[in-house]
Amino acid sequence: MPSAPHPQRAVPDHLGDVADALLGQRDRIRSELEALVRIPSISALPDHADDVAASAEATAALLADAGLEDVEVLEHDGMQPAVTGAWLHAGADAPTVLLYAHHDVQPVGTAARWTTEPFTPTERDGRLYGRGAADDKAGVMAHVAAVRAWLDTRGSLPVNVKVLIEGEEEVGSPNLTALLERWATRLHSDVIVLADLVNHDIGWPSLTYALRGMADVTVRVRTLAQPVHSGMWGGAVPDALTATARLLATLHDDTGEVAVPGFLADVRPLPEVERERFAALGTDPERLRADVRLLDGVRFIGDPARTVEERLWMRPTITPTGMDVTPVAQASNTLLSEVTAQLSCRLAPGQDPERALGALADHLVDHAPFGAEVEVTIGEATPAWWTDPTGPAWEAAVAAMTAAYGRRPAAVGCGGSIPFVGPFSDAFGGAACLLVGVEDPRSNAHGEDESVHLEDLYSACLANALLFAELAERRPA
Ligand SMILES: [Zn+2]
Repeated sequence: MPSAPHPQRAVPDHLGDVADALLGQRDRIRSELEALVRIPSISALPDHADDVAASAEATAALLADAGLEDVEVLEHDGMQPAVTGAWLHAGADAPTVLLYAHHDVQPVGTAARWTTEPFTPTERDGRLYGRGAADDKAGVMAHVAAVRAWLDTRGSLPVNVKVLIEGEEEVGSPNLTALLERWATRLHSDVIVLADLVNHDIGWPSLTYALRGMADVTVRVRTLAQPVHSGMWGGAVPDALTATARLLATLHDDTGEVAVPGFLADVRPLPEVERERFAALGTDPERLRADVRLLDGVRFIGDPARTVEERLWMRPTITPTGMDVTPVAQASNTLLSEVTAQLSCRLAPGQDPERALGALADHLVDHAPFGAEVEVTIGEATPAWWTDPTGPAWEAAVAAMTAAYGRRPAAVGCGGSIPFVGPFSDAFGGAACLLVGVEDPRSNAHGEDESVHLEDLYSACLANALLFAELAERRPA
């Protein structure tokens, strides 16, 4: 039995043939997705390089079969294969749209936690389970099905289309710069449609207009040239672990909100209209607790005056994610001389990474407990990306999604980072970016039992198809 009400789609009459063609291909879309899911294209594991290559080939075959031209597997030294294709016969006046998704997937995690085999697609309650079923092979299918519906019925598209299906998004897109340098002209476009985001709920689509950035910082704390006897010296000589714990404790206030004033200095204040929009989403904190599996009695952190959405999407974080310290089983009665901690930062819209991380480094050094030696190393940083949720491309997407899902999309942020968005938009002279997706809060992408809601998948395919017509009418360029 399907787990969500059937969408009340409201397709404009003049696009009825395209919509009928698309929805008439549900079974085909699903079986093509299943075929992609059967390929374990795990980009993080070198053993699966052949699978990533096979997945690129299968994706290329789908693009060509949909009617795209110049389909090619892009190879570049050290890059896992991406796939491209194009259809450029809509005329010079029509906008050019770049469709982005990725065909690589995450490792399976804990095999025993999967109800069914990760690479054997299986349907339960209207959802298709399998690694990549949502992230992001569903995104690949959303593009393929949309293009095919037009070319099957009309023999043409209302916009020029370029496609880029990346093969190493799940390892942080290490070759994005090279990809841009080599193929920027070929990929140049007026609008980017990126299908790799999460919808607000089943049957309730989202348009994402902000992504947090990301940076890693390593902190090394030393108090002694070597460990010493805790009985002989404890009480007068400081150990590095106590110093580290005290130092990390200065990063947050009692609510868990970041308390490094310089770090927060240039965070964009949330406009009232956005605050109201988040409040109107009516998120149930109990449901969020269940989604994230927060333990009983554990509270959400961050400024209680801000909605959880604002904390997740528009505020920065500093989170310790690893520490080099003596494991408990090897602990002895010794004062530790040195501890190293890894801090993972999510950067908020407005934050200049270099300035913010410099302020964090200064804070850590200035707050060294007991005069300990504190050494900070700043890793690579990706700034946050955000855009104004207005304009012709945005309005086109709102119209297409409202028709396809029968519900107006929510304008949301995303706490995660997609390094692709900012550099590609900039390289194309500030191309409008439409961040859409097929996942919902129950998809558990990156976790075990990943799944896609099938009816939402078909709605996402339809929304993409309708979007072409909406963009052609509004001509964002
Ligand atoms: Zn993804």
